[in-house]
Amino acid sequence: MTASNKTILKVLLLGDSGVGKTSIMKRYVKNKFTNQYKASIGTDFLTKQITVDEVSVDLQIWDTAGQERFFSLSPYYCRGADCCILVYDTNNPRTFESLESWREKFFIQTSLQDPEKIPFAVIGNKIDMGEPLVSRKTVHEWCQARGNIPFFFASAKENHNVTEAFTSVVQNAPKEK
Ligand code: GDP
Ligand code: MG
Repeated sequence: MTASNKTILKVLLLGDSGVGKTSIMKRYVKNKFTNQYKASIGTDFLTKQITVDEVSVDLQIWDTAGQERFFSLSPYYCRGADCCILVYDTNNPRTFESLESWREKFFIQTSLQDPEKIPFAVIGNKIDMGEPLVSRKTVHEWCQARGNIPFFFASAKENHNVTEAFTSVVQNAPKEK
C-alpha cells in the first residue's frame, strides 16, 4: 500500500478518571501493564499499525491527558476523531452512569456533520476483579438504545478483549480518506 492511500484513524478513549483508559492504550499498543496509578499527563496519542479486513490502518489512539478529572473535554482532543471507545470500571457503577455525559460531550466537541455515524464501542474494564457490579443486561440495553454499540467486558491487566474492542471500531469506521 502506498502512502497516499494509507488510512489513518483517530480513536478516542473516553471515560472517568481511574477506569483504565491509559492502561488499555498501553496494553493495546505496547502490550504492557502496570499497577501504578499515575494520572496521565503529556502524551497526546500513541500509534499502532494494524491490518483489518486486508486494509492497512494507522491508528492514532488518544488518551485524555488527565483532563477527565475535571469532567472536561477539549475540542483539540476531539477534532477529527474517527472512532470513540467509552470506558467504565465494572466495579464502579458511577463510572458506567458517566458514559452518557461523555458521549454527549463528545457529540458537542466533534465538529462533524454527522457525529452519530462515528463508530463507538463500550469497554467494561477490570473484569478480572470479579463479578461486574453493573449487569450485562443493563449495559446491553444501554448500548442497544444508542444504535447498538458493541460492548466488551475487558481487562487491561489480563489482556482480555482489549484488541477485540479496537478491532470492532476500526471495522465499523469508513476507511477511505
Ligand atoms: P485512567 O485514569 O482511566 O487512565 O486509568 P489508568 O489506566 O491510569 O488506571 C487506573 C488504575 O486502575 C491503575 O492503578 C491501573 O493499574 C488499574 N487498572 C487499569 N486497568 C485494570 C484492569 O484491567 N484490571 C485491574 N485489576 N486494574 C486495572
Ligand atoms: Mg489516564
